[in-house]
Amino acid sequence: MSTSFLSMSIAGLAAVGLVVTLGIVSLLTGGLHFLFARPKVHILKSQEGETGFAFGLSWNSSREPAKYDKVKVRLFNPFGSPTQVEVMKKFDAGMSTFARDMDMGPGMLNIIQAQGLDNATVMVEVTSDAGTTHQQQFKARDFVERMTLARETADEFNGTHEIVKEKPFYHTVQRSFISEPLPQSNKTLKLATNPEFAGEFATAGGGGEAQENFAVSKVWIEPGCIVCNACEAIYPEVFEVTDDTCLIRPDAPLDNGLLILEASDACPVEVIKFDKIG
Ligand code: SF4
Repeated sequence: MSTSFLSMSIAGLAAVGLVVTLGIVSLLTGGLHFLFARPKVHILKSQEGETGFAFGLSWNSSREPAKYDKVKVRLFNPFGSPTQVEVMKKFDAGMSTFARDMDMGPGMLNIIQAQGLDNATVMVEVTSDAGTTHQQQFKARDFVERMTLARETADEFNGTHEIVKEKPFYHTVQRSFISEPLPQSNKTLKLATNPEFAGEFATAGGGGEAQENFAVSKVWIEPGCIVCNACEAIYPEVFEVTDDTCLIRPDAPLDNGLLILEASDACPVEVIKFDKIG
């Protein structure tokens, strides 16, 4: 076996070993983070003025589901003044890593401007509606400096940790709410003003060959009227369209067959029928 082949084999084994080791370490750290990651309070930049307090809370919400909705900031200042201050505020509950920015009132100013902060501590408590409380203690001076130097706002923090929810998909019945198109009669509306029928209405001044008018003995409406009003618009003395059908007027004149024919031709569902005399 040559020396170079032996070297390549050792290098290959070393590379494989490195990859496996990194994989195991990654799995272990991920698992450890999942199991032991503690909630953490992040001090953020408030935009609520000198009595404002902005904070973020991160924790493993899949392992510890909770709705945090109350924050309490407490100053313990045994060698300074004032010796103790407590401010508390409720807020819209956060169910996973979130930030809030609130006006805590004048008590917050008493904490920030207290005398003797170097020997004091600040406790931030975030409590859930179920009573779970996460406490984080800060040296008071460090707490105030963090508030002063913070650059990230609550909105920015929320933007960074925003949970992207999947767009809900609603199954709907495949049904159209648009009515079916009207049936086509394949006829063209016969109007005296339509050049196509100029000849038929020559007697009305359209020119060309005149079409002799005729009388009808009977005109009626078969079932299926869609109350479109076309017939009444053409010959209102004969047709009366109601809310749900069309009626023939009792005293309808029956001597102008051409106009009745025109109305019949205009009916999109072809329910106007008549008997021609002769
Ligand atoms: S034209 Fe036909 S469908 Fe329209 S209102 Fe008259 S009878 Fe009814």
